[in-house]
Amino acid sequence: MSNLDFEVNGAVAVLRLNNPPVNSLGLEMRRLIVDAVARAEADPAVGAIVLIGSGKGFSGGADIREFGTPKSYAEPHLLTVIRAIEDCTKPVIAAIDGICMGGGLELALACHYRIGAESARLALPEVKLGLLPGAGGTQRLPRVIGVEAALNMIVSGATVSPEKLRGTHLFDALAQADLTTSALDFARTVVAERRGIKRVRDLAIQMPNAEAFFQFARNSVKAAAGRYPAPLACVEAVAAAVQLPFDSGMKRERELFVGLMATPESAALRHIFQAERAASHIDGMPDSVAIRPTKRIGVVGAGTMGGGITMSFINAGLPVTLLETTQEALDRGLATIRRNYQGALRKGSLTEASLEQRLALISPTLQYEPLREMDLVVEAVFESIEVKRKVFEKLDEIVKPGAILASNTSALNLDAIARFTKRPKDVIGLHFFSPANVMRLLEVVRGAETANDTLATAMALAKTIGKIAVVAGVCDGFIGNRMVARYGMAAHDLLVAGALPQQIDAALQNFGMAMGPFRMADLAGLDIGWAVRKRRAAEFPNEDFSNVADILCEAGRFGQKTAAGFYRYEAGARDAIPDPAVSAIIERYREETRVVARKVSDAEIVERCIYALINEGARIVDEGIAQRSSDVDLVYLNGYGFPAYRGGPMFYGDSVGLITVARALRRIAASPGADAAFWTPAPLLARLAQEGQTFSEFKGRST
Ligand code: NAD
Repeated sequence: MSNLDFEVNGAVAVLRLNNPPVNSLGLEMRRLIVDAVARAEADPAVGAIVLIGSGKGFSGGADIREFGTPKSYAEPHLLTVIRAIEDCTKPVIAAIDGICMGGGLELALACHYRIGAESARLALPEVKLGLLPGAGGTQRLPRVIGVEAALNMIVSGATVSPEKLRGTHLFDALAQADLTTSALDFARTVVAERRGIKRVRDLAIQMPNAEAFFQFARNSVKAAAGRYPAPLACVEAVAAAVQLPFDSGMKRERELFVGLMATPESAALRHIFQAERAASHIDGMPDSVAIRPTKRIGVVGAGTMGGGITMSFINAGLPVTLLETTQEALDRGLATIRRNYQGALRKGSLTEASLEQRLALISPTLQYEPLREMDLVVEAVFESIEVKRKVFEKLDEIVKPGAILASNTSALNLDAIARFTKRPKDVIGLHFFSPANVMRLLEVVRGAETANDTLATAMALAKTIGKIAVVAGVCDGFIGNRMVARYGMAAHDLLVAGALPQQIDAALQNFGMAMGPFRMADLAGLDIGWAVRKRRAAEFPNEDFSNVADILCEAGRFGQKTAAGFYRYEAGARDAIPDPAVSAIIERYREETRVVARKVSDAEIVERCIYALINEGARIVDEGIAQRSSDVDLVYLNGYGFPAYRGGPMFYGDSVGLITVARALRRIAASPGADAAFWTPAPLLARLAQEGQTFSEFKGRST
């Protein structure tokens, strides 16, 4: 079956894009459109051409599978298709419903007329990939909807509905009935009334105050864009539409587009876009796997995580039965959930009615019995293997066969938890991040015995509740916490070597991290790590787990919650204030461990902390704990504040060059006092560096 259906209906040729899911404009589709337009043009019976979509709408634009491949710029290029349509001697009418985005909207703008359905959703979202619309969107959209509205759409990438565009030239008509029928009627009228060809490029743009307008736009966009060059380039392209003749404007748009395509920021954003799509693909999962139903959800524990997890489900309309041990804990949990929603209510992002609707989806309980009919139960009780044992034994006894039993454990062994049940195939880890209702990241932990359909179901459910789900294997810390532990160790070493928390945090924040490691530690609470180190010290008496944070904890400095940690905090404020008392503690620690402080540069801080992440990421990929390096990037980007414009630690490693990363790691490993095992390049990293390869190119485990 062709991806484009061609049908002549009286004097009208109907060209229907039929390339699910979003009628993307890949090379094959572009060829088909050019051929079909030529065929209709050559047919003497045809007086007008209707271009219409099927399925989800008109067209979602470029085919993402072609990104970065020769196909994306092979002829006919989208610009060639657009020219073929614009130059067609018979009127071409775009009939638009559903998705009409990116290249799809640019294609529609090349048509001579447009008829829209109410369901149409229009956007030029290229800026979100660090680009601008490169097929005339920046030149044509201002001509039809006005400069200011077009600039807003292009700079923000926001989606708008026809309602918002009423009164502009975008739509010549709005469909009153079924879109195909309305488009046919409209086309017949165009033919009957000999309305002829109307090209957007011929529309004049009047803007007497253009200079002042664009200066203002440049200033405000620059302030908001931070390190991203694309928004400002969007302004320049739209300015060209106003200031230059159409063809010169098109040339300017192309130059700016090509320039952006070469920026590291756009490469990073495109990598993330692809990574998000790749993450849902589970290696080795047969297509035939059936997804289990997940209509009724149980959550055990209404604490910090249980509350947030419950909100994630009810936000997606899924009813939750929430189990606690005491009425008091249950009431506290429910009150926190309500309070969180009230925040959204105050901000205007939620209405009173939908708040009540969501809360009504929660069935609180102190009994296990109501969990019997659940399709999936998430456990979020204390991080204690004995407490988890009791919960899983009870769930195993009560919950119906075929249900999925999930644990939100951060650090306990999921396989051990699975063995508390007689159905380890149905057990999985759902490692939410705090606050679970806000954070989009979800590590889906596949245990040794987790069944394929359990995993596939968990991934599908994650999508339903709007999470970015990444499959992780069982190990200490899974992907993210295992990496952040290494990052924290590297930062701690630098602290002991001679830097202060504020210098380390500032260097990493300048690199782009949302928060430096010591501010993050203060926020999370230093006592958590302290407890872990005490436990480990007891388990491994020969290893040294000592840490400056231990001395801070001994002094009652647990971080923000005690208004003192690596920094001090004023009452009611979250600003981290450098504290001479902490400098003194660090100095004492240096003396005790016989370290002579040296000068540490900001570049060294970034190199050590970020390369420690990359090195651990390489081990994680090599061991198969993560399926691919882009999954590691997604975890670190979405869970730990890594800057999107650097694409994630592994992508950053690729862009620095793995040879450079490996060389630096070897240098650090050989430096005095360094932990050589920690710093030696991971086998995968060493091998890829040797072979001149990147993580992105690495497709499988080396073992
Ligand atoms: P929490 O102390 O805030 O909440 C735990 C809740 O579980 C309490 O309300 C407690 O009353 C309840 N509970 C204890 N035993 C129970 C039982 N037998 N039946 C029913 N309820 C019981 O803890 P939390 O921070 O929400 O952590 C919960 C789990 O999530 C832990 O495994 C933790 O490691 C994991 N986790 C925490 C975070 C985080 O940032 N806090 C992040 C990811 C995962």
